[in-house]
Amino acid sequence: MIPAAFDYEVAESVDHAIELLGKNEDAKLLAGGHSLLPAMKLRLARPALLVDVGRLDDLSYVREEGDTIAIGALTRHKDVAASPVLREHCAIVSHTAGQVGDPQVRHRGTIGGSLAHGDPASDLPSVILALHGELVARGPDGDRTIPAGEFFTGVWHTALAPNEVLAEIRVPKLGAAGWSYTKMARRAQDWATVAVAAVVHGNGSVDRAAVALTNMGATSVRATAVEEALLGGASIEDAAALAADGTEPPTDHAASSDFRKHLARVLTRRALAEARNR
Ligand code: FAD
Repeated sequence: MIPAAFDYEVAESVDHAIELLGKNEDAKLLAGGHSLLPAMKLRLARPALLVDVGRLDDLSYVREEGDTIAIGALTRHKDVAASPVLREHCAIVSHTAGQVGDPQVRHRGTIGGSLAHGDPASDLPSVILALHGELVARGPDGDRTIPAGEFFTGVWHTALAPNEVLAEIRVPKLGAAGWSYTKMARRAQDWATVAVAAVVHGNGSVDRAAVALTNMGATSVRATAVEEALLGGASIEDAAALAADGTEPPTDHAASSDFRKHLARVLTRRALAEARNR
């Protein structure tokens, strides 16, 4: 449980972090360290250089920008969970941040680290996907905006280039839309065996619906069959029965692939019912 040797630098600014990343192709950013350090101890990750961005307070914020809420990538889970702006306008994000791990994890881990890590078992990627959120990557040539649907590319892989810093996450204000993040885990502080993020717009009939699944494949995935069925007027029960269509969930110590498919259907039904009642 001892990591391979590495060098360590503290970034003085985001630009400094980008410069350090550009000088060493085996460099990794260190934010809260609650995914990267365990991976290094297991020798699943062996960066030659850690660039510590954990002290860059200017990337820790939640603020309203018109119809959008901007969240700095280094905002810790506990601050996302407690944000009055998110609680009022996009409570699926603050609620879900409060479901991540345990208090110790939430006091160190960051929303940006959670998304940039690209773990299909993480909670926040599904929420950002269901919200059609946007991720702002900052690199040597400035900022570029990546839609959430294009950000997660595989297990531990994202659309970020090696010399880019995830700077900001943008999510829409939800207005009257109903939402749910329904998570099943073996123990309270565990990663999800399966979880479902649902956002449903419409009064009576469904105008727009987005459903995203956690731990049902190599990335968080949209349950498009469910979304289309709801738009076509299907009942929650009939739509939720399609939740596992097209998915290839893993088998591991927590559950078999087939059990995950069963959970996806059950949890989608519960998530949609909760979203409709909110
Ligand atoms: P780090 O560990 O510092 O970094 C993770 C990866 O992201 C690294 O590759 C790093 O280089 C990269 N990175 C970090 N910040 C940036 C950035 N701004 N731009 C570009 N790249 C960046 N997560 C859940 O979702 N649900 C859970 O239930 C859960 N339970 C947990 C339980 C335990 C015991 C532990 C240890 C962790 C758990 N986690 C869980 C993971 C936790 O949420 C992590 O905090 C999070 O996944 C990573 O955030 P971090 O800030 O710690 O990132």
